[in-house]
Amino acid sequence: MKKYVLLVLSMLSFASMAQKKKAATASPLEAEKQAMIGNLDKRFDEYAKISKQIWDYAELGYMEEKSSLLLQEQLKKEGFQVQAGIAGIPTAFVATYGAGKPVIGILGEYDALPGLAQEATPEIKPIPNQKGGHGCGHNLFGTASVAAAIEVKNWLQKSGKPGTVKIYGCPAEEGGSGKVYMVREGYFNDVDVVLHWHPSSANAADASTSLANKNAKFRFKGIASHAAAAPERGRSALDGVESMNYMINMMREHIPQDTRIHYVITKGGEAPNVVPAYAEVYYYARHKDRAILQSIWKRIENAAQGAALGTGTKVEWEVLGGVYNLLPNVTLATLVHQNMQKVGGVVYNEEEKKFAEKIAETLGEQKQDINNATKIKNFNDASESATSGGSTDVGDVSWVVPTVGLGTATWVPGSSAHSWQSTAASGMSIGQKGMIVAAKTLAITALDLLNDQATIDKAKAEWLEKRGGADFKYEALLGDRKPALDYRK
Ligand SMILES: [Zn+2]
Repeated sequence: MKKYVLLVLSMLSFASMAQKKKAATASPLEAEKQAMIGNLDKRFDEYAKISKQIWDYAELGYMEEKSSLLLQEQLKKEGFQVQAGIAGIPTAFVATYGAGKPVIGILGEYDALPGLAQEATPEIKPIPNQKGGHGCGHNLFGTASVAAAIEVKNWLQKSGKPGTVKIYGCPAEEGGSGKVYMVREGYFNDVDVVLHWHPSSANAADASTSLANKNAKFRFKGIASHAAAAPERGRSALDGVESMNYMINMMREHIPQDTRIHYVITKGGEAPNVVPAYAEVYYYARHKDRAILQSIWKRIENAAQGAALGTGTKVEWEVLGGVYNLLPNVTLATLVHQNMQKVGGVVYNEEEKKFAEKIAETLGEQKQDINNATKIKNFNDASESATSGGSTDVGDVSWVVPTVGLGTATWVPGSSAHSWQSTAASGMSIGQKGMIVAAKTLAITALDLLNDQATIDKAKAEWLEKRGGADFKYEALLGDRKPALDYRK
């Protein structure tokens, strides 16, 4: 017994010695991290200005010309090699710095949402005559990712170590599936790990999954006629749409309950006294399991055909988007969580507190303590099986490269994405502070990975296991279609 205690004691002291040794050898890297964090603080105003400029542009998916160019200019100025207009998308780009392995990719987005033009004020105040607004904070997303990539570049330059940083300018995340085309064209093939983040109302490393999503516009063609004088000569395209919708709504009872199907009628005819010759309905279907989604999608297509047959109309459809579910990576998310704890959350000044309190008052039951912005959420592996409810084209990236993301409190705690509240915060200092938290976390995580092949290997092993089967072959859910560059026009 005594012997055993002694053994344990000696093991403990050995362990603590090893730990001390580890702490001592780890410190130069920690110093580098602190330097990066300090640097990003110093450049706060510069990046805030860029993000505000993109917020002002508020360009919709695939039309982000000025926003994309602004970010490209920063990267060129810093010595990145910029390749623009990739994957058949004029506003997409990849900017590269460095040489050799490992290759760290960072994703950036910059598209706005239609109908969310809102001033950066704590009360609802739409901007007249502006098409879109940054209700998902992608103005911050693109800027923080560029800021992080620049820090990583500075480190590569200074240290002279091997390694490459690639920043991806990813257009049209909101329904345009921009990244899918970049994945399909092989732009991520040589990347070891991809880092991304997303504006949020809380600070958290993310190991949750998302819903695979497929969407299409179903276009019905009928025959126009006088709706009162000669209705028998007409065939209503709107009847086609309505019959399809009716069948889908019946179908809801007979599909897995965690499926999401939603539609809007985008064209329904022009006048009640003309039998509509043309009608269009825009469908989204989502499920966390891609195979289940595909089988449900087949039934949606059948419903469209059945509706056309029954109403004497014709139907065609165009798949506009399709994205994979996210493949979470706990190895990488654990690292991100540790780094976010080093960075800390978002601390408001007096003015921001007043702004946040005012916003909080508008959040109803979702109202939270605004001090939650300072906290980092606990990380737990169990969140792996949790689904965010939304979909993202980062999903496709995560099936071809081990990928990890985080959210930061760019919005007042309790705010929802795609709301006037999130648009407002994304255009002022609260959003900008959250953006810098993200930039810091991304930069120091990249630094860790550039100095730690073992973690990359571990992340890759986890990823391979989760992806399943050595015979996995990536096939885009949207098939071989070209980017739907006019989907917002
Ligand atoms: Zn978004």
